[in-house]
Amino acid sequence: MVNIMEIFIIGAGASGLTAAITLARKGKKVTILEKNQTCGKKLLLTGNARCNYYNQDQDIKKYNSDNKNALKEILKQGQKEVLPFFDSIGIIHNIKNGYYYPYSNQSKSVLNALLKTLQKLNVKIINNQTVIDIKKQDKFIITTQDSTYKADKLIIATGGKTYPQTGSDGSTYKLLKKLGHSTTKLYPGLTKIIGKDNYYHLWAQTRAQVKLTLKINNQTIKEEIGELQMTKNGISGICTFNLSAKVAKALDKKEKVIITINFVPWFNKNNEQLAKWLKKQNETKDLDTILNGFLPSNTIELFHKTTSINKINNQTLPTIINFLTNFTFNPKEVTFKEAQITVGGIKLNEINPQTLESKIVKNLYIIGEILDVQGDCGGYNLGLAWMTGIIVGKHI
Ligand SMILES: Cc1cc2nc3c(=O)[nH]c(=O)nc-3n(C[C@H](O)[C@H](O)[C@H](O)COP(=O)(O)OP(=O)(O)OC[C@H]3O[C@@H](n4cnc5c(N)ncnc54)[C@H](O)[C@@H]3O)c2cc1C
Repeated sequence: MVNIMEIFIIGAGASGLTAAITLARKGKKVTILEKNQTCGKKLLLTGNARCNYYNQDQDIKKYNSDNKNALKEILKQGQKEVLPFFDSIGIIHNIKNGYYYPYSNQSKSVLNALLKTLQKLNVKIINNQTVIDIKKQDKFIITTQDSTYKADKLIIATGGKTYPQTGSDGSTYKLLKKLGHSTTKLYPGLTKIIGKDNYYHLWAQTRAQVKLTLKINNQTIKEEIGELQMTKNGISGICTFNLSAKVAKALDKKEKVIITINFVPWFNKNNEQLAKWLKKQNETKDLDTILNGFLPSNTIELFHKTTSINKINNQTLPTIINFLTNFTFNPKEVTFKEAQITVGGIKLNEINPQTLESKIVKNLYIIGEILDVQGDCGGYNLGLAWMTGIIVGKHI
């Protein structure tokens, strides 16, 4: 009698589904255990339900991890695989500013393509199975709320701990800790920043093109240019998202954190020239007419309430310029609840970056967002999920 190797994957998200397809295409027997009634719940939410699944700019600087060497190895192997994989499941891409979306502009198309491919390959998916315990004996003994399964090889693809309503609630970190693994410190990433100032009611529901500068302990750490969404309790939008993890870490360490907002990033000259330009405008226009030319109306109200200035003259100019180029936002909190990603995860020095097999438990593999790898906003996190799914699939 020939013994068929039983491979189990826990988690039917982006990384788990990709690993299953890659393995099944090699003729391997694969079973997926998923806690939700349906698969890919988080995937459906991505890119505002349009699924920004990859990015043309694959510079290593777009990714981060405490272990850069292991990260480099994962990217070296994975980057060349993603687009051929998407081609193989029938997804035609639509590229906007380097961001890849499915041509349909629907994340549902990507999930459907993955599920249809799995169906054709006869991969077994068992839904409504929450894994609550994993033991390693001769085989892996996987316990769910109502069943027990035995596996020769086990792939953990259970995601991070943000948006817990999608199924990825971070409970698997504990199961992996019991098996000897550890995580770096976890932070929320790619999310809004809640502030502690008292003017947000004035700017709520406004968007503006700005430059944000993150300063930690008075040092400039990162700058972002883009659309700022001003909300009733802070700031949001992609440029905010890209600063949020650094803000979360700094707040956690009780460091002094501020974000300055430049409302005139299009005036890419120095403040002296801005002063000259404002004076020139002032010859023919009143202050509100000038501000109305480039500021959203709520922001003009904010300007008046915070400065009490009504006209341009030599006394008021420094305050006007300070408002326009150096407006201070004071961060209070960054939370996991609506964060797109978990920053940090299972330490990369505990896995072999070439195979993604655990160095601690033989035949255990760890992929996707649960690992200490994170990308910028723009398709990099799904990119990592596909890459790690394909790498593990190729190596088992
Ligand atoms: C609102 C939002 C928008 C986003 N937009 C983008 C985007 O446009 N581009 C981008 O690149 N990234 C985006 N991301 C990030 C991206 O979705 C994740 O990085 C990616 O889904 C991670 O894939 P994964 O397979 O590691 O985990 P997940 O997709 O989270 O899948 C994990 C699966 O494991 C299951 N599971 C967890 N625990 C258990 C258990 N104990 N037993 C059984 N099953 C379990 C979960 O139910 C889930 O189905 C977004 C995230 C959010 C929240």
